This record gives sequence, structure tokens and C-alpha cells, in this order.
Amino acid sequence: MPSNKSVSDAPITQFINCRILRDHMLKGEDLWVREGKILDPEKLFFDEQGFADKRVDCDGSIIAPGFIDVQINGGFGIDFSRPSEDIGVGLSLVSKKILEHGVTSFCPTLVTSPPAVYHKVLPQIKVQNGGPNGAGVLGFHLEGPYISMEKKGAHPEQYLRTFRSRGIEDLMETYGSLEDVSMVTLAPELADSQSVVKELCQRGITVSLGHSMANLSQAEDAVQHGASFITHLFNAMLPFHHRDPGIVGLLTSDQIPAGRTVFYGMIADGIHTNPAALRIAHRAHPSGLVLVTDAITAMGLPPGRHTLGQQVIEIQGLHAYVAGTKTLSGSIATMDMCVRHFKQASGCSIEEALEAASLHPAQLLGITNRKGNLDYGSDADLVLLNDDLNIISTYISGEEVWKKGA
Ligand SMILES: [Zn+2]
Repeated sequence: MPSNKSVSDAPITQFINCRILRDHMLKGEDLWVREGKILDPEKLFFDEQGFADKRVDCDGSIIAPGFIDVQINGGFGIDFSRPSEDIGVGLSLVSKKILEHGVTSFCPTLVTSPPAVYHKVLPQIKVQNGGPNGAGVLGFHLEGPYISMEKKGAHPEQYLRTFRSRGIEDLMETYGSLEDVSMVTLAPELADSQSVVKELCQRGITVSLGHSMANLSQAEDAVQHGASFITHLFNAMLPFHHRDPGIVGLLTSDQIPAGRTVFYGMIADGIHTNPAALRIAHRAHPSGLVLVTDAITAMGLPPGRHTLGQQVIEIQGLHAYVAGTKTLSGSIATMDMCVRHFKQASGCSIEEALEAASLHPAQLLGITNRKGNLDYGSDADLVLLNDDLNIISTYISGEEVWKKGA
């Protein structure tokens, strides 16, 4: 029986003295990596002892799958939706900086914009693997413009659209291309939405419900047509009402097709969602919870006043205000902060907190064959953490790409 070693001469790295997150548990096992993938060590035991070319002593730390952020609008002074900037350079900066927060892949998110912006920005950024230069790009998340006027939140009203009885055709004209798009957030109550949901899902694009006035039956209808995500649960949708719980009701709906899971994004920054509401969602539907940052330009900037485009914002603690007001101008939370806050606020286990930022978003995007877990054969995108869930180091494809204090 041939061993893997004889199949490949590539160097093998062995992570020792660690607890690895596998099968929903932290296990005191070593982690083996070769050619950027997680290796099954049993296949190696036919070789002589000492087959690891390199050992990494983890000093008792936790190894979790790298975090995946499916909703991030920018950060560190960069806004992906502003085409006046060189999008490629801006994206590189953000993808590099989020490594220190444990994020190894992400969906750059565009808020409602005029067609010219989509036509300019979308062709400039391709799905790409991560590496020493930054986290990988899984494809765009396009949030809008097919959303509700009443629940537009911070989206610019003048660019909101309906499908104009043209369904996917209107969407294609607006976006220009769907080639590097992984997710679209839309409001299912708009006329023609259900046919668009179906078309997008057939093309392998995840459909999320959000910025919407939908009642529960409209939301269930969208799920039956293939929608599988809820954008920032509780924010920008009808509040829970016991006679019609709206989109929130999907968490406990009995109309979800067998074998399907509805996932929901939570901005667990302690500001956008009250901890009691976070607990309600988590207890009702723990396996669907996906942590997102929904971070904006100001994430990662120091406290004080910043000029961002036409706007002046003021950062105080975890709040980013439009200067001189108490209007929140988006989240400035980082993913590792959200993981810690989620654990503390919900009382969930370390494993659950980590899976909400790794396994669940990977399940949502249908990429668990390579991301979101430490199964044999998966990409060795890793985050090493201490027991307080502070990041020690980040790896992509088995290579260290960030280390605390380095
Ligand atoms: Zn939003």
C-alpha cells in the first residue's frame, strides 16, 4: 500500500501541542499539512518515523479554521463601493489587514450603487486565493439595489431599483456580470423577486433576504425558491411580531424544505444587536448563525475624526458616528471581536463561537469541501487563538501570513 509520502515529496508541517477544532469539538491532536492542504496522518504511518519536515509548537493554543466574512464593505479607510479609488489597491490593503483578525477569506460587499459603479468595480476584482499578501476573495456580495425603500437603512435612495417586470434581465443590466458574484441580498416582496431568486440560485449564487418589508410567507416563498441567507438579522426588516414574525420567523419556520438550512448573518458587535436578541436568535437556531462584521471604511482606523468621501465621521469606542450626531455610520467591529462578543453575550461554547465564523459561512456558500473546517483535504487556512479567543497567528494554505507581535 503506497503512502502519501511516496506520492508526494512536498514538505510536511506538523502542528504540535495544540487543540484542533474538528467535528464540533476541540481535540488534543496534532495537525498535519502538506501542499497547503490538511493531511491525514494515518496515511503516513507506513513511513519511517520523523516524516515531518517542519514542526510548529503551538504552545497549547487552539487551532480553528480561518474565519470567513461574507459581508464586509471595506475598512482601514477603504470603501469598496467608491469607484474613484483604485479598487485593486484598496482591496489589497483590506485583505492584508484582516489577516490579523483571523479572516482568511471574504466576500467584498457593495452597497446599493448606480449601474456605472457595478460595471466599473466588478470586472476589477476576481475570485482569488489568499496568501501572504492577504485573505482570499470568494466573490462579491451585492447588497442592493433591489431592496425596500422603507428599509433602505444607509443605502442611497436614488439608486434603489425594482425589476421593472424584466426579472433577471434587469439585474444583469444593472450589475453587468455575475461572474465573480457569490451572493446577492434582495427584498423578496418586490415584484418578480421569486423568479430572480430561482435564476440566481440556478447559477450557483447565494440569495440572501434583507432590507425588506417581507412577511413570513413571502420569506418562506423565497426560501422555497432557493434563498438561504438572511442579511444582518433584525436590522433593516420588520420587527418580530407574534402574528406575523416576518423574515425573523424563518428561524423557526416549518416551511423550510427538508435537508435545507436557512442561515442568518449577525453583526455581533454589541451595538447593532442587543445581547438578548442575539441570544433569542442563537437559542432558536444555533446551526444557522453566521457572524459578519458588515464593516465599513472606518473599521481599523484610530479613534477621532476622519474625513471619508463627503462625510466626516467620528470614532468613539466601537461606535462610528456621522460627526456631530449620534447617527451610526456602520460597524467598525473586526471578526475576532465579534467572535469574542458572541461567545460572551450568548454564553455559547468556544467551539460554537468559532464555527459561527468558519464552518457556518462555508456551509452557506457551499464550500465546505475546502474551507471552514479542518477535515483531511481541506485548505490549511488556520487561525491560532488563546483561550480568550485572541488571535496569535493566521495561516493560509499552511503558510504563516500574520503573527502577533511579529
Ligand atoms: Zn445592510
